[in-house]
Amino acid sequence: MGETVKIAISPAIQLGGSLFTPNQLAEIGHVLGADAKVEVTPFKQLYAEVALEQRDAVKEKLEQIGLDVNPAGFVTKSLIACNFCKGAEEAGLETAVALNEAIAGIATPTPLKIGYAGCALGTSEPLIKDIGVVKMRDKFDIYVGGEPKGLKTSFAKLLRSGVTEKQLIPTVIALIDFYKENAKGKEKFGKFVDRISLDRLKDMTLMGKEGGGHETID
Ligand code: SF4
Repeated sequence: MGETVKIAISPAIQLGGSLFTPNQLAEIGHVLGADAKVEVTPFKQLYAEVALEQRDAVKEKLEQIGLDVNPAGFVTKSLIACNFCKGAEEAGLETAVALNEAIAGIATPTPLKIGYAGCALGTSEPLIKDIGVVKMRDKFDIYVGGEPKGLKTSFAKLLRSGVTEKQLIPTVIALIDFYKENAKGKEKFGKFVDRISLDRLKDMTLMGKEGGGHETID
């Protein structure tokens, strides 16, 4: 096959959760070919290896049928969202779609998982994600530093409460940017949060600092 590259395929953020249609599954098989290996990841993406020169064409074909295609590896994964069982409006579907568009596929020091839950029941497990967003009535809580892997697991801690819809995406992007600028090598996000401290991250994401102008530390 020559040089290959891994791509991450995911369905749109939608009511009902991570749903593929039969047509999308058939098209994935058709586009990737009979010999392709398709891996189901724990973070709701399908990984597939494609020839480097075919990547753009494969991406275009899959996007035409409503799928998202992002890089695999050291990037932010597509948003790991809940099923929006309380309905599009109450669970914040539109916000989750916009958040996914803003964060999916950003190059990061280590793979970054961002979860979204439409209510405090948190069925998408936002507290075991690097960044977890939970809709609380008409505002959002943001948690950071969840670590589900290994023997030293930990729950994410509350970073900000009462975040407005307008503040949400700039705040999450500011966190990702701050991590990119200040992580030591391949430092995991949870360890980064512990080293920097929650208070400093809180300060960095306070009103007026989101989305730019945040400090860089040594
Ligand atoms: S987090 Fe809440 S809105 Fe989302 S699927 Fe679970 S119970 Fe439903």
